[in-house]
Amino acid sequence: MSQYDFDLITLGAGSGGVRASRLTAQLGRRVAVVEESRVGGTCVMRGCVPKKLLVQAAHFAEDFADAEGFGWNVEGVSFDWPRLIVAKNTELNRLEGVYQRILRDNGVTLLSGRGVVVDPHTVEVEGKRFTCERILVATGGRPSLPDIPGIQYAITSNEALDLMQLPTRMAIVGGGYIAVEFAGIFNALGVKVTQVLRGDTVLRGFDEDIRAALAEEMSKRGIDLRCETVVESIERAPGGGYCLRLGDDETLETDLVMYATGRRPNTDGLGLEAAGVELDRSGAIKVDEYSATAIASIFAVGDVTDRMNLTPVAIAEARALVDTLYLERPTRPDYDNVPTAVFSNPPVGTVGLTEAQARQRCGCGIDVYLSRFKPMRNTLSGRDERTMMKVIVERGSDRVLGLHVVGPDAPEMVQGFAVALKCGVTKAVLDSTIGIHPTAAEELVTLR
Ligand code: NDP
Repeated sequence: MSQYDFDLITLGAGSGGVRASRLTAQLGRRVAVVEESRVGGTCVMRGCVPKKLLVQAAHFAEDFADAEGFGWNVEGVSFDWPRLIVAKNTELNRLEGVYQRILRDNGVTLLSGRGVVVDPHTVEVEGKRFTCERILVATGGRPSLPDIPGIQYAITSNEALDLMQLPTRMAIVGGGYIAVEFAGIFNALGVKVTQVLRGDTVLRGFDEDIRAALAEEMSKRGIDLRCETVVESIERAPGGGYCLRLGDDETLETDLVMYATGRRPNTDGLGLEAAGVELDRSGAIKVDEYSATAIASIFAVGDVTDRMNLTPVAIAEARALVDTLYLERPTRPDYDNVPTAVFSNPPVGTVGLTEAQARQRCGCGIDVYLSRFKPMRNTLSGRDERTMMKVIVERGSDRVLGLHVVGPDAPEMVQGFAVALKCGVTKAVLDSTIGIHPTAAEELVTLR
């Protein structure tokens, strides 16, 4: 009989924590997971899932408008935001139940409350101490807001998912994933959106052509993009709402201010540093390639380590950790060619290197194939929207290094092509693949 209460105690019942806990319990180990909020974590409760439901809801606005061109009469269609929020919350409750059941059915003990590491083998939850052989920290992250006057007036994506009613005007600060996704949602639902970002355009780090194409399509839809603009302060406006000071005596009046200026790891007050776990300057837990911290019995996966903050990556890190610790199969998560999508309007799907990264890495040069076209649906709908596709190929080896799409269904397309990139697909193989006609995706195998 083990000297400990549990073999593993996981802090955080999000995507990474639940996966690691379940897999470990399935191997016959005694596992507890500590959660102070809702089971499911950021992705299921405050991120990917509710966001995607709102993205889908918002898309109907364009679908109804486009339907006219196909002979439909859609007069009298109306939208009910509170009804959507109730439906979304019902679905989140269902999913929380699913996650709780997954833990229960696999014999994982759920400890509700805040978990604090007391020493490398002890966790305290609401005044009660539990011992364990190992601790996994999977506490995720939370929105990070700059310290400017009036920042207390700003909401984050957490609150934006639960607004009681839609504002008339909204300012969204930031140019990353969350900012462009929420700008797309609220704009499509009729809110006058101004997006304020300090960079030269949206989505720093993405391929430049993709960034430009998305910014153009967002602007066409009426999102007011204020690039290279910094918010200095937020004040209450005399007639209600808020006034953002943007420098050079420029101001912006709005009804609601949302900040999406990045996220920071949830490591405050967890007792980690006292236990000897090293954190970096942003507060992220420093781990090695096997998700091990400086303390032999403490491990960390997911956003709290600030490696690649994506749900499927956290899950892959959790799986690799269980293989390493409990199956005697040391496994490093594979961060090569991780595909990602931005559910902006239109969405972005991308895998592999940007053109700039490829130029920097490839001594022998690269070839770039780029296409911009009007998807078939837009011929009858009359929508002024163009899809962009870009494929980057290493000249010597003919290998596809990067593949990027902005346009309807981009994330669905790129998932399949990500498999091809993992297999080392060459441009010649893309060229020899027969397209599926008529689709937008066939363009990716007919680029010349
Ligand atoms: P991002 O890191 O993507 O973007 C942060 C944005 O805020 C950038 O435009 C950044 O500007 C800007 N910014 C940072 N600090 C300041 C500041 N002090 N003042 C003004 N602007 C500032 O963060 P997000 O919050 O959008 O998302 C967090 C993470 O969550 C993402 O990186 C992603 O990993 C994950 N995520 C993934 C999604 C998906 O897969 N679809 C969806 C949502 C989130 P600059 O570029 O100049 O630094």
